[in-house]
Amino acid sequence: MTDYQFFNEKVSPLLVKWLNEEIRFYLFADIGQIYFAYASDFASKEIAAQCNYERREIVFNIAWIKERFKKNEVFLVKYLIMHEIRHFYQRRVVESFKNRENVRIYEPQAMLLSWQKNFEKYIDITGSSELEEKNYFSQPIELDATAFAYYLMQHLHPNINPRSLYVPKYAVDYIKKSRGFYQSFFQVADQNKRYYF
Ligand SMILES: [Zn+2]
Repeated sequence: MTDYQFFNEKVSPLLVKWLNEEIRFYLFADIGQIYFAYASDFASKEIAAQCNYERREIVFNIAWIKERFKKNEVFLVKYLIMHEIRHFYQRRVVESFKNRENVRIYEPQAMLLSWQKNFEKYIDITGSSELEEKNYFSQPIELDATAFAYYLMQHLHPNINPRSLYVPKYAVDYIKKSRGFYQSFFQVADQNKRYYF
């Protein structure tokens, strides 16, 4: 069995199961596919995963996930899935907001507007210079997805050491000041008050 077959046939269903188990935090009924591709299929081989909202897909880099298995860091795979699925959620909430759909949205309007603007002008990461990394990681939707996944992992797995969850240095301040926001969001989700969609 090749790596490609192993991850796509054996590992992918497990990751979909993880997503479905925590669906109350992003309320997506149609998550679609998680699949695996070789590093050479990505714009940069440093990219661990990418999501495609229109196709409802999350694509993982096989080289990256192999490294996590080798280092016994499978929890970082879940951490990254939670980050990627948050981008789906952000898009969905912004659409509801723009279309004035009759749904109750948790996020304050200023946040939704910043996400909307960011989606219209999203900066992709193309290199690894200090400035490029800063511009990329400081985007509102990246800060939010980073903080969401960081606090959700701790919420779901209280024994996890927060230091083992990688955080870009540009997100540290946002993470510190936003703890309460995410924790109350998780409480609402846990109580199964379906505010969204
Ligand atoms: Zn992201």
